[in-house]
Parts: sequence; C-alpha cells; structure tokens
Amino acid sequence: MIHCLVLFSLCYGALAMPTPESNGDISSTDQDFAQEYLNHFYSSTTNEKESFTEKLEAMQKFFSMKVTGKLDTATMNMMKTPRCGMPDVAEFSTFSGRPRWQKTSITYRILNYTPDLPASVVDDSIQRAFNVWSQVTPLRFNKVNNREDADILIQFSARGHGDQNAFDGPNGVLAHAYGPGAQIGGDAHFDEDERWTNNRAGFNLFLVAAHEFGHSLGLDHSADRQALMFSTYRYVETNNFRLSQDDINGIQSLYGRRRQ
Ligand SMILES: [Zn+2]
Ligand SMILES: [Zn+2]
Repeated sequence: MIHCLVLFSLCYGALAMPTPESNGDISSTDQDFAQEYLNHFYSSTTNEKESFTEKLEAMQKFFSMKVTGKLDTATMNMMKTPRCGMPDVAEFSTFSGRPRWQKTSITYRILNYTPDLPASVVDDSIQRAFNVWSQVTPLRFNKVNNREDADILIQFSARGHGDQNAFDGPNGVLAHAYGPGAQIGGDAHFDEDERWTNNRAGFNLFLVAAHEFGHSLGLDHSADRQALMFSTYRYVETNNFRLSQDDINGIQSLYGRRRQ
C-alpha cells in the first residue's frame, strides 16, 4: 500500500513544479517529458518543492551518469529507456518495519491473460518468476484460480485500469506492483500495450514479472545496475536465471534465508 500512497502524493506534487530551464539541444516536447518523468519517479515524499535541477541530479546519480543537473541527450535517452512504473526514490524503503507478508505461504491468482502468449506460457513465466524469490527465502507461492482472497492478483491492462496509475501505451512504463498488504497490496499489473514474450523480443514476461514480484514482496528499486530490482528493463538470458547478490541481500533482510 505504501507504493500506492506515494504515487498519489507525487501526482499532487507535480502541479506545483517550476518550469525547467530551457536547453537549446532539447525540444520543448522532450522538456515536458523530462519534467513529467522527474515528477513521477524522483519526487521525494518529504520535499515536494525540490527543483527540477535537484531532481535531475538525483536521477543522474541513480543511473551512475555524470551529475550535471542539465538535460542533455544522454540523460534524455536514459529517460526514454523502458522501465518499471515504481519511483526510484522512496525514502520509506529503508525504515524498519516496512511492509512484508507475515506468513510464508502466499497465494496468487492470474485474473486475465495477455493475448501475446499462450496461457500455458503465461502460467509458466509467472511461476518461474515466483520461483526466483522462493529459491532464496522460506516463501512458497501457490496459484489459486477462483479464491477472492488471493494475496497477489495479477492482471494485464492498457491505459486506465482503476487504480489511479494509468499505463502509458507502448514502451515507457511496462508494469507496476504494490507492496505487501490487504486488498490491492501485493498486486502486479502489466501494461497490455507492450508486446509480451518468452524470449529476447519485445519484453520478456518472466523478467518483468520477477522484478514486479520483488515489489509485491516488499523490495524497492536498487541502485545496483546488476540487480533485478534496478528500475529499467534489460534483457538477460533467462535459462538458469540467478538473482544478483544485492537482490538476495534485500529479500533475505525481509524474510530470512531458505530453510534447508
Ligand atoms: Zn520496479
Ligand atoms: Zn495498476
């Protein structure tokens, strides 16, 4: 639920932002895009009046780019890299007592299927994505087909889909998920306007789902570029996929190690 609340506050904060300095190389359309991107992904909950430059610097730092506070072509390209819809700055994430499931047996339900893939491939991709996390924790995931009270609901939707975080058409935001909790807590939503695949074309459903389920379990974005929980999409070989040590440290800080 915390992710959800942060996103709401970002939307309100966005209205009060000053106009960015003009930059000769960047079109006004791109400047508007940059402003929206920074408002969405780099607004802190404690300081909604942060300037455009401060947000831009935070973004450049997050992506290990040269921190100039200027909107250059490299920064613009990074902003256009397909990514997860959750913010990159979420100060609450490091506080003690952040949400986690208070049980090890977790249920999930797939509410609908993307027409991009056979249902059996979707089922398999989702199951393998959960396995990524159960391999290193005591957590177990069980698929249920019609229980109203499943912990993690999974759906494919385009544009507005009833949760205040409308998707944006092809590319850009690929998916988002809510941290552990009741009702929408834990749920993972995938943008149906993307082309979902089980290979390196389009966007690999297994890889995006494994990332989103990290959020469903209570992890935020990592600044480690090798981590699954880094915010942008990067195709990696999915056979024998292994989490980075950073991801393992993160999830085990919440749930402990897998019991032998
Ligand atoms: Zn994410
Ligand atoms: Zn959603």
